[in-house]
Amino acid sequence: MNDTPQRRLRLAWGGATDQGRVRANNQDAMYADWGLFVVADGMGGHQGGEVAANLAVRTMTKADRENVRELHDAVQEANKVVHETAIAQPELHGMGTTLTALAVIQEGGSRRFVALNVGDSRIYHYRNNQLTQLTEDHSYVAELMRRGELDEEAAAVHPYRNMLTRAIGVHPEVDIDEWLVDPVAGDRFLLCSDGLTNEVDDTAIAEQLSISEDPGATAKALVRLANEHGGRDNSTALVVDIQIDDIDNKNDPEVTQQEDSEPAQVILPSEDSSSEPITPAGAFESPPKTSSRSATSQRSWLNDRVGISVAAVIISIVLLIASAAMLATIGWYARDGYHVGVVADQVVIQKGRVGGLLWFDPTLEEWTTIQVIQLNAQDQRNLVAGKQFTDLAEARNFVVQLRTRLVGPTDESRGDG
Ligand code: MG
Repeated sequence: MNDTPQRRLRLAWGGATDQGRVRANNQDAMYADWGLFVVADGMGGHQGGEVAANLAVRTMTKADRENVRELHDAVQEANKVVHETAIAQPELHGMGTTLTALAVIQEGGSRRFVALNVGDSRIYHYRNNQLTQLTEDHSYVAELMRRGELDEEAAAVHPYRNMLTRAIGVHPEVDIDEWLVDPVAGDRFLLCSDGLTNEVDDTAIAEQLSISEDPGATAKALVRLANEHGGRDNSTALVVDIQIDDIDNKNDPEVTQQEDSEPAQVILPSEDSSSEPITPAGAFESPPKTSSRSATSQRSWLNDRVGISVAAVIISIVLLIASAAMLATIGWYARDGYHVGVVADQVVIQKGRVGGLLWFDPTLEEWTTIQVIQLNAQDQRNLVAGKQFTDLAEARNFVVQLRTRLVGPTDESRGDG
């Protein structure tokens, strides 16, 4: 009697991940299979970040995930596995990872999407040419923005925009945010790590999602964009497209879903054969150097100097020397001393002034094994304000003191507790 046509949900997806132009390895991980899509962005020195992201993703994929409850349990299990591994293996102390997952569940006879998130990887929802960030970032900067203390422009260049306030594996249990979405034909989801969103703004992401229909090509183009904009971090993009067909239930009563893409697809940084590093010819070409061109034009200017008085030439030379001297002084000041700061959620010692000066950016001097999330609130604030030191020994001494006050999963804190 019931002639209501059944709806068939079809999914097509494609992903890309790349280590970027600065990092030595890729600590992002992703997974895509019918009904479950995951992106994780690991943090932790040595191999910690890579281990944490892979462990979390693999644990998710092995867990039951038929309903919202089971999905929450799967994320808690991922948290537990990463946390316990970090405690058991000294070289992995302090490791953690973000985890953002999109899953299809059956609820009341229809299919729904569940988005779960811990950290600052994101899920975007693209519908009717509108891009909406579905997840909320668990980062220091995002919380300042939610409190109205920082605008989007300032947040985009904030030196501590990567500082996480929540991550998988840091504590024995973790709070998980959840969203439910009823799918509409033509919906597009993007799961990504902050290596994409720190380099490419929402407008450019939306534009890319609008111009390419193929999810795999779109994901690759997004990662390529992140690299073209600097590639300062690993970046990962996973695009999932939703198609919904009305089908004749008499002829095809069993079919309610069908996949369009290849089956299980684990794309993990350590597996070269299945990862898709994006190394487009031309994408990494350095901008043309201008020094030789300016040298040429200067020579021709000298050749054409007929009529220019000797005095004018002398004045120009004096001005040039003065400018060069001023630049050298600014450069010396900007690069003088050391400060303790944060790069990719990790406490580091950098050479130069906090935040840099003009175009003189600080440079990385030493990594430490301390994660920002291990610091107490006061020390986190100190690092955000920047801690400047006159020499390297002082900066190292400060790091030693930081280590005595850690609140994260370390031998010291466990011993105290
Ligand atoms: Mg990242």
